[in-house]
Amino acid sequence: MPESGEKNIIHLDLDTFFVSVERLINSRLKGKPVIIGGASDRGVVASCSYEARQYGIHSAMPIRMARQLCADAIILRGDMELYSRYSNLVTGIIESVAPVVEKASVDEHYIDITGMDRFYGSLAWTQELRRKIIRETGLPISFGLSVNKTVSKIATGEAKPNGEKQVPAEGVKPFLHPLPISKIPMIGEKTFHLLRSMGIATIGTLSLIPVEMMEKVLGKNGIVIWKKANGIDSTPVTPCWEQKSISSERTFDNDTTDPVLLNNVLVGMVEKIAYELRKDQKLTSCVTVKIRYSNFDTHTLQKRIPYTSFDHKLMETAKELFKRLYQRRMLIRLIGVRFSHLVHGTPQLNLFEDTPEMVHLYQAIDRMRRRYGKKAVIRAVGMGEESLIHAVLPRIKRDGCFALEGGSGAREQFLQLSDFPV
Ligand SMILES: [Mg+2]
Repeated sequence: MPESGEKNIIHLDLDTFFVSVERLINSRLKGKPVIIGGASDRGVVASCSYEARQYGIHSAMPIRMARQLCADAIILRGDMELYSRYSNLVTGIIESVAPVVEKASVDEHYIDITGMDRFYGSLAWTQELRRKIIRETGLPISFGLSVNKTVSKIATGEAKPNGEKQVPAEGVKPFLHPLPISKIPMIGEKTFHLLRSMGIATIGTLSLIPVEMMEKVLGKNGIVIWKKANGIDSTPVTPCWEQKSISSERTFDNDTTDPVLLNNVLVGMVEKIAYELRKDQKLTSCVTVKIRYSNFDTHTLQKRIPYTSFDHKLMETAKELFKRLYQRRMLIRLIGVRFSHLVHGTPQLNLFEDTPEMVHLYQAIDRMRRRYGKKAVIRAVGMGEESLIHAVLPRIKRDGCFALEGGSGAREQFLQLSDFPV
């Protein structure tokens, strides 16, 4: 029996997910170095097979460099629609048997099975779930099973590829201590080098550093990292239905049927909350549009889409839903947009979805928003008919630059083609 307060958390992670899906479609890719990351040399690696990793290739590496490391690598453009379908298939299988499931990213889930082992061995249950996923999807998947999300996730990393690892409460410290600090999920490159320069190489050493010193060096993050090094993590598994969505709505001062106004407001809302998504490093796979007529009749429509955080993809869906919803030409009192089914995912996951030029445009515009305020870019475009992203790039190409009003209104800033280092 576990001590009271002790938890049983599973972390499930599909192995080289994009590559595995491609191999389901085309079995000739099996055993070969495969890279997902766009057709052009200007892209970066979004995912790669273990065979490719043997050449030193890793995600976020420029495709050009990957090609130099392995001339035989098979480079695929990637298909987020296909991956989203398999991702949701896996989620469905897990949700059909598991009590509390959190979808953390397109290929990762957490499950809280605390208390289940009173009826059934938690390890045997998890092994059976893993076999079921492999049987029903054909996708390789690994899991870690331990006392909290952090330790389980690290255990999955150690179990990969196509493996499983249980770390019971009394085994947490012996498991963590010899591992390099880079195995702690939160430690990025900068923090890694900083800690290494302090002579800290293993999680064991890190766990012995006074927490006050960690705070002094890394702020609040230092405390979280120190806790993780000590196997402490009380973050709950947040089930999908409790996960936050992100939304915006607008009530008109005067009810309206003006199609230009309605379109502009819709476009503005999508741009605003898509920016929030990218800022939080989230992707959405469900768009909902709501309209309320002047008589308070309220209608909503939603649509599942491939995971994305790009305005132009979300805009397309929002406009389509609005068009289907707004059939009656009655006065509208309110419109709203909501993105739900959010998962963690850097915009990098979108990289193969569009041209690198498009990705850089988003990065440049988001940079401007951070610098000059959220509304700076939108105001400069004038909330026209077109979406922001489609309006800006052609203008830069035509005029050589694009003037932005500063957040203060006084300053002017110019976006130029050189802001898009493609
Ligand atoms: Mg994975």
